[in-house]
Amino acid sequence: MLNPVTSSPRSQSASSLTKRADTGLRPPQPPQTRTTGELAVIDRIRAAAAAATPRSSSTLRLGIGDDCAILRPHPRHEIVVTTDFSLEGRHFRRDTHPPFAIGHRTLARGLSDLAAMGAAPLAAFLSLAIPRSLARNTKLLDGFLDGLLALAARHNVPLAGGDTSESPSDHLLADIVLLGTVPQGKALRRSGARPGDHLYVTGALGGAAAELADVLAHPRRFRNLTPLDATGPTHPHLFPEPRLAVGQALLRRGIATACIDVSDGLSTDLHHLCQASTVAAELDIALLPAHPLTATLDDANQMAAILHGGEDYELLFTARTRVPRSIAGVPITHIGRILAPPASAAAPRMSILAEGTRFTLEPQGWEHLR
Ligand SMILES: [Mg+2]
Repeated sequence: MLNPVTSSPRSQSASSLTKRADTGLRPPQPPQTRTTGELAVIDRIRAAAAAATPRSSSTLRLGIGDDCAILRPHPRHEIVVTTDFSLEGRHFRRDTHPPFAIGHRTLARGLSDLAAMGAAPLAAFLSLAIPRSLARNTKLLDGFLDGLLALAARHNVPLAGGDTSESPSDHLLADIVLLGTVPQGKALRRSGARPGDHLYVTGALGGAAAELADVLAHPRRFRNLTPLDATGPTHPHLFPEPRLAVGQALLRRGIATACIDVSDGLSTDLHHLCQASTVAAELDIALLPAHPLTATLDDANQMAAILHGGEDYELLFTARTRVPRSIAGVPITHIGRILAPPASAAAPRMSILAEGTRFTLEPQGWEHLR
């Protein structure tokens, strides 16, 4: 682990390493910088994390370097926790995705879950299973860390610990744990929508699916992206921007009655919200904000990207008060309304209005193991 600085299967802490060097029968040796092996990887992560994110703050009392991190949330706050896998071959491909983007996306997924609850980030914990082939070829790992830590620095999220292990396959596997805080009893939840509420979404939809199609078809175009490309809405798949400021404003200003982030696709995430709130919902197709990149798709694929394309990481929320046109600089669009639940549990919960006709909307976004 990074914190503890131990790893499975063997366990070794930073302090025990120091003692071993200092108490041997031979005279102390000058410290040597290891360039390979798990401890070298841990050293790189530690150095990168220390350079990019604060080691301690009023809420993070102790970060990487001991057996546990120490956190002290503000009084009358609760802790929210989320964890997300980023698996090579499932969530990214080494031959198509720039390493910087893989790291950015790994953290962005967790931060987006915090945004959906209206939480402020407290700390991140990163566990990595690294293929032996990557322990020597540091380009992917260094790029991954740079991308993850650049986003962490922008949102002031310390990397406070984690774990490293040799991957049993030739796949890089990452798991990110994010902790955040919310004022007690105030977290935005999926379950608060009521009939008569209106539905809103931040930013634009379908851009991530459109860019993913482009990345898979033309990976060379994206190979030389730099950290400067990681800000702004230009790369919704490679560099999604978690809506933390919007989520916190929705909570603070008491605007949202329910909220979820659009990670699996609008149709699937709206279905989650409807189920949690025991309501139905109706979208108006003419109101849905299409990301400009969806213009590169034909009509059918454009609508599929907007309705079902995952990983936009926008916020989908309900409200029964007036909602501003933008929050924290992010456009907010009214896209439909919440209805009473269907009489039968088997009846569809979602419909969509298109040119005056109402169609049933099925959840067709991303679902693992389907
Ligand atoms: Mg989520």
